Amino acid sequence: MATCSPQPERKNIPDYEYIDVNTKPFHIGAFRDLWLERLKPSDYSYKEEEDEAFEAEFANEFGLNAETVNDIKSICSFDSLRCHPVDRDTTVVPPDSSLRTLRQRKRRQDYKANLKVNSNRHELYAEELERLTVGRKPTGEEDRIPEGEVIITVNIYYPTIFERFKYVRPHATLLMTGSHTLANLRDAICCVSDLQVCGEFSNTPDIAPDFISQDHYKSSFFFLEGVFYNDMRFPECQAISSTTIEWAKSHNFPSYRQAKMEDTKFVDLTIKVGFPYLYCHQGDCEHLVIITDVRQVLLSHKSDCLDKKLYPLLTHKHRVTTRRCTVCHTYIGRQVKITWLTTNDHFAPCDPCLFCDKCFRMLHYDEHGNKLGDFLAYPYVDPGAFN
Ligand SMILES: [Zn+2]
Ligand SMILES: [Zn+2]
Repeated sequence: MATCSPQPERKNIPDYEYIDVNTKPFHIGAFRDLWLERLKPSDYSYKEEEDEAFEAEFANEFGLNAETVNDIKSICSFDSLRCHPVDRDTTVVPPDSSLRTLRQRKRRQDYKANLKVNSNRHELYAEELERLTVGRKPTGEEDRIPEGEVIITVNIYYPTIFERFKYVRPHATLLMTGSHTLANLRDAICCVSDLQVCGEFSNTPDIAPDFISQDHYKSSFFFLEGVFYNDMRFPECQAISSTTIEWAKSHNFPSYRQAKMEDTKFVDLTIKVGFPYLYCHQGDCEHLVIITDVRQVLLSHKSDCLDKKLYPLLTHKHRVTTRRCTVCHTYIGRQVKITWLTTNDHFAPCDPCLFCDKCFRMLHYDEHGNKLGDFLAYPYVDPGAFN
């Protein structure tokens, strides 16, 4: 009777823990090393293989003569796929086409042509971002991402305090390299909680911008695989995860460790791909963070941006509708200056009421800056501030 030999342990090779959900934990650096061991340097080299060398190797591997190679080349060339003249404009859909794909394309073209605004600014921004980064080569050799570097795709979700966005797609997707630290990731995450100004400033509106949360409350942490990675870069930072660790200890939960996010590179991490982790800042602004991919630069993505300076690279950003000023109807999220929310305000048509800085001041203060009437004013940061 045949006996099953035990499977060798596949340490640090990602394997599903739950099918199609998340992998078992693996060490990113060790995974990269296994890759590099298995691949030939030419597999992940940026250098394009010379056509002639490639052909010679191809012929050699398949045992073909030069004539057959030439035949294959001409049959498989892009030109042989062309079914119309080179100078034909392929954007023009021929009339009365029987192909459903073409009819759909025509409908889409007609719809776009009838739109009052051709493309909204979000689409334009996304297109511009892509144009600037796809396949981009660095200007200097020192800015080039090293060959064989790992690229980690990280999805950041809206904080759970936004009830509306609890279950939506990622707020932002960032590409990090293996040599980035968790502090680099923290700095790349844009959240309105960092811009909040706490307090009522109707008597002193000019000093409100001095109280932006990110300047005062710098503590934050990531929680990955039982380790709290605290941001300790600034003197005012506190290890805010200590409270949770103490609590867990007193309730007989497994013990958790702490480390500094600024000292922890992605290649040093042991993670599960697809597993929800936590990023917490401003006390209780909690975001889910999911690593969705760990791969090698260029290996299967010929369009990778190779300019180190552009990383962490934002590849997707969800955009929300911003609110408008009640008076002039400009979008508040686009305002450079602080915007305002008032309550108990006799000048306002509703309670609470939103104003841009200009309208707020014109309506609530005289020409010398003296407050008119009784009202409460709170700086307001629109969730669309990062649109
Ligand atoms: Zn946040
Ligand atoms: Zn206004």
